[in-house]
Amino acid sequence: MNSPIITFVSQLSQREQADWLALLSAKLPNECIKLDQDLSDKERLQCEIAIVANPEPTIFAQYPKLIWVQSLWAGVDALVSQLSKNKSEPPFKLVRLIDPTLARTMSEAVLTWVLYLHRDMPIYLQQQQSALWLQHRYVLPQERTVGILGLGKLGKCSALRLHENGFNVLGWSQSEKLINGVNCYSGDDGLLAMVKQCNILICLLPLTPNTYQLINNSLLRNLPLGASVINFARGGIVANDDLIKCLDSGHIKHAILDVFEQEPLDEGDAFWSHKKVTVLPHISAPTHFASAGEIVASNIGEYRSNGQLPVCIDWQQGY
Ligand code: NAP
Repeated sequence: MNSPIITFVSQLSQREQADWLALLSAKLPNECIKLDQDLSDKERLQCEIAIVANPEPTIFAQYPKLIWVQSLWAGVDALVSQLSKNKSEPPFKLVRLIDPTLARTMSEAVLTWVLYLHRDMPIYLQQQQSALWLQHRYVLPQERTVGILGLGKLGKCSALRLHENGFNVLGWSQSEKLINGVNCYSGDDGLLAMVKQCNILICLLPLTPNTYQLINNSLLRNLPLGASVINFARGGIVANDDLIKCLDSGHIKHAILDVFEQEPLDEGDAFWSHKKVTVLPHISAPTHFASAGEIVASNIGEYRSNGQLPVCIDWQQGY
């Protein structure tokens, strides 16, 4: 008997949908993968697996037999919050993209922007604007303490990359961790103990009710004077007004922000023109088409051969 159709549900452009469909169909030649809009009502009733990218969440009501949903993105916070709005868990499992290539891409972004801050690029950029020739004291990487909030797939890989490059690396997570070369912290006390030491603080946490606006005035004030902040996770984790106040007062030297609550960032947003802020358009770790296709195909292949589901989101924890 043929396997049931796999549905592809997204709000991507037609071109992107066609590209994904071609890639996934080539990698899974024994599967029938169809776009949601090309399925009949009867076909939708049979689907057990959905591959999704920014799906409209109400659409899942048309798929009563869904067993699991594979996201093409690593961050699924929007989907999780929309699907668990009425506090009851959806009747299917959600799998996010866990891709070592993506983790390496993120660690590359982390290293790039840590080096940017470490070598005082924001200051020299401003000095050039006023033709100011002024050399600042060089600091060795081992004299620079970099703390990472979140030691998951992306955080751990980034922490190790920074350690390889000589930085003094600290990390914080929900559960206790042991990572060679990284001083690991957990819990509220651990957060405070870590933050107090960080010259550069990097956020790689998922957005959940527990991490919403975690980087607020109180946390920022506990960073040493002149520390910098990098947010590569989700905009909602930073309390924007608090950050701007801390930048204006000089307590925080610089912020590099790749993610925002509202994307694209509004044209009139204060971050665009703030001298101490670098705005990036959500580019630190994009899903890599070929490697993500490989991971998704392997997840589906495993499931078809032995019924084994990939690692799933914990609906209660929100990640
Ligand atoms: P992950 O593997 O799920 O890791 C999450 C980490 O955060 C884990 O170490 C977890 O602790 C920790 N954590 C979660 N809630 C916590 C809490 N309340 N207190 C302390 N620690 C907490 O996620 P990931 O794959 O590394 O991805 C992290 C985030 O990066 C994603 O959720 C996404 O939003 C973002 N992202 C951004 C981009 C971009 O281009 N900007 C690209 C991809 C992903 P435990 O280890 O103890 O569970």
